[in-house]
Amino acid sequence: ENFTPVLAQLAHPNSQPNPFALDGRLALITGGGTGIGLEIARCMVTAGATVIITGRREAVLQEAVADLGASAHYLTNDVCDLASLDGLVDHIEATYGELDIVVNNAGINMKKPALEVTDEEFNRIIHTNLNSVFALTRACAKRMVARKRGVILMISSMAAYYGIDRVVAYAASKSAVEGMVKVLASEFSKDNVRVNAIAPGFIETEMSRTAMNSDPDRRDRAMRRTPMGKFGQPEDIGHAAVFLSSDAARYITGASLPVDGGNSIGF
Ligand code: NDP
Repeated sequence: ENFTPVLAQLAHPNSQPNPFALDGRLALITGGGTGIGLEIARCMVTAGATVIITGRREAVLQEAVADLGASAHYLTNDVCDLASLDGLVDHIEATYGELDIVVNNAGINMKKPALEVTDEEFNRIIHTNLNSVFALTRACAKRMVARKRGVILMISSMAAYYGIDRVVAYAASKSAVEGMVKVLASEFSKDNVRVNAIAPGFIETEMSRTAMNSDPDRRDRAMRRTPMGKFGQPEDIGHAAVFLSSDAARYITGASLPVDGGNSIGF
């Protein structure tokens, strides 16, 4: 007989399972080799999950997995190759088990006045940040809905809500993702599949540093618009992602959580 649970209960008579833990969960994080995605992966591993990170650059992913430890694995994949995404999910489930969590984090941005943006540039951003998110979410959700269990997270942006100059395609893609969250949350809610977004403010990563460096005044303006007076760190998004993926958030669906040092209070 196994007395371990009895002994644990005797040692901690009021102990309850930790609702914030992700023990035994399997998570797929796109763009998990760098920036926000990497810290989401790290926070999820710390919370007990096994993570699969994807991206286009194998060397970056290899380095990230070496850093994250034995609970992390990588697969090289371009989310823009929509036809590959169903096979990606098949491969993950055959190799690692049933997916509990998918985090649509991979994304690109470009700063340019709207009148200078070409159709090719606009389409590339919409394809990466929106079309791929729908295709991957559909591939994961059909399995999750059948199992009546799953969590889908979108990494959106405050650019979905506010008129930030020179990000017309990016803002359009993120607003569309926010709209998709509500529809999918509604359609999947009876099947115990939750769909939420995190809307980061100014977070210090390669993407935001590139944007800040291309415009010397931008850092000052961004700081003035941030009531907490500092930029966020990628792990701030990681902690929110763990919470929304965990049972602690079991009654939250169709939401968009700003993690932005107060930008959403109003400019
Ligand atoms: P990074 O540029 O550091 O990370 C983006 C990641 O996405 C990279 O790992 C990249 O890997 C991957 N990626 C890009 N295109 C593809 C593709 N076609 N297929 C697969 N992977 C791809 O940026 P952040 O960490 O800052 O951004 C992560 C998310 O957070 C994005 O969705 C972004 O819009 C959002 N966000 C960021 C904010 C910030 O201030 N940093 C603010 C608000 C939202 P690779 O190039 O190897 O493919």
